Amino acid sequence: MVNIYNMSRDKLNVWLDSIGVKSYKSIQIFEWLYQKRVKSFDDMTNLKKEFIEKLKSEYAFNHLTIKKKQESSTTLKYLFELTDGNYIEAVVMKHDYGNSVCVSSQIGCNMGCAFCESGRLKKVRNLEAGEIVEQILAIEEDAKIRLSSVVVMGIGEPFDNYDNLIEFLKIINDPHGLAIGARHITVSTSGIVPKILEFANFPLQINLAVSLHAPNDELRNKLMKINKVYSIDALMKAIDYYYEKTNRRVTIEYVMLNNVNDSIECAKELANLLRGKNVYVNLIPYNETSHFEFSKSTESRRKSFFDYLHKSGITVTVRREFGGNIDAACGQLRANEVEK
Ligand code: SAH
Ligand code: SF4
Repeated sequence: MVNIYNMSRDKLNVWLDSIGVKSYKSIQIFEWLYQKRVKSFDDMTNLKKEFIEKLKSEYAFNHLTIKKKQESSTTLKYLFELTDGNYIEAVVMKHDYGNSVCVSSQIGCNMGCAFCESGRLKKVRNLEAGEIVEQILAIEEDAKIRLSSVVVMGIGEPFDNYDNLIEFLKIINDPHGLAIGARHITVSTSGIVPKILEFANFPLQINLAVSLHAPNDELRNKLMKINKVYSIDALMKAIDYYYEKTNRRVTIEYVMLNNVNDSIECAKELANLLRGKNVYVNLIPYNETSHFEFSKSTESRRKSFFDYLHKSGITVTVRREFGGNIDAACGQLRANEVEK
């Protein structure tokens, strides 16, 4: 049986059409699921008994369970167990403007970036759209909060799970679903160029973040294997295309690795690469983990790097550090659990 949370309204409408039911029913179903948050078809009291039986014969309510929860003043971190026993994680970050959530898109990751805990454990499988949606539902229910923005930056490479990602985005953006505005949603990719081009033509103005982490191919090849497939040059062209199509400035993520990619020469190369482009740079303090020898850039190196970019006219910010003390480096909680 199909998990009902996998179904965007487009998909539900196709099914409704196939059984000769009017498509406005999908609006009613969505309102029960995402506004009233019922957990059984029997609770959908404005639907006819016969139709409820039809729904039951086709769809199930799957739920993930909260396996572990860690809390700090600014962060909530969840480890979830899926119905097949796999683990994923999601993190809530509390800002003064609202709560944002970072969700996982795959169980593990096959991109194998040299510094990343999520990629250290290979991909087991893609998450279904519903399993990404449910991370949001479970957190809102457990923490009794409303999540106003969503970043797809947890475990996994979202563009390696493109179709389910798109269904997920449709469900959370749907005005009858979670109604999270496209401008409050960000998808982060390691740089799968053909998917960036495809995503540029997806009709929602969703923010795109690209993990660059190095200003030249030689260094990026060492840090991110994907660069051997899609070079920086190809990536820059895709970023320009994304802006052209969506009018959304792309965020360039740059994780600050001490004495690896944080020299003034690197800052100079980065400024030259990005000058004149419609991008923001977000410098990410590295979350150290015991499995890699990389360390976080010192305060003074980070400051010099930042100042150089700033003086060169590049829009640059430093990511606030969330929950480093509670294993918040993406993938750490899961890795701890799996390797216990
Ligand atoms: N696979 C996607 C999205 C998930 S990773 C991507 O790579 O963009 C989200 C971000 O966290 C990426 O920029 C990634 O490089 C970064 N990241 C991975 N491990 C990290 C760590 N230990 N500390 C800080 N950032 C990390
Ligand atoms: Fe995968 Fe992103 Fe980690 Fe690279 S940084 S291994 S793409 S999750």
